[in-house]
Amino acid sequence: MKIKVLYDNEALEGFKAGWGLSILVETGKEKVLFDTGADVPTLRFNAEKLGVKKDEIKCCFISHAHGDHTGGLAWIKSAKVFFPGEYDGSLKEFETLVFDYPIKEQALIYLPKKVMFVGCSHPGIVFMSREAYKKFGKLKLVIGGFHLFDIEEDEIEAIAKEMKKLTEGIAPCHCTGSLGKQIFKRIFGKNFIEVKAGSVLTV
Ligand SMILES: [Zn+2]
Ligand SMILES: [Zn+2]
Repeated sequence: MKIKVLYDNEALEGFKAGWGLSILVETGKEKVLFDTGADVPTLRFNAEKLGVKKDEIKCCFISHAHGDHTGGLAWIKSAKVFFPGEYDGSLKEFETLVFDYPIKEQALIYLPKKVMFVGCSHPGIVFMSREAYKKFGKLKLVIGGFHLFDIEEDEIEAIAKEMKKLTEGIAPCHCTGSLGKQIFKRIFGKNFIEVKAGSVLTV
């Protein structure tokens, strides 16, 4: 499977950055979009640069209804969109975990590889990952925004250590913040994956 980061707070050279998140998940069977970033022009620019054709995207999961995740929705008008709690289970390889507090938010899990995608992790990245762990066992990768940009260093370190028990690899981006990224890099070592808009991972 391939993971293409289409929208993030940081970008690789030649790509555009913006506060928001959008990740394209390409499996052998389908192309699924997780979130859409904050605006159409940035999303479209990065997607086209990666050779992504929007007509091939048949469905889109929105982690939660904040503008930095829904702003690019107009780009994929023809796709089926699942807001938290709306997913009908129609894609066999994907499952969602839905959380109600502090805002309705869903994580997307690609079951064959145990990869979890998160938007802003408002319910708490450890809480969300623990729920996934209970259901699916140790995850292979957790990727997305962890919402740690305004959290103290020792607290982030405790979160990173806890996450190490729940997932093998980690790719924090979006609202994780640079301090958060540094700490995860130190705790996860070679299993830390740096991602920005324009990054492509093969899992
Ligand atoms: Zn966000
Ligand atoms: Zn949010």
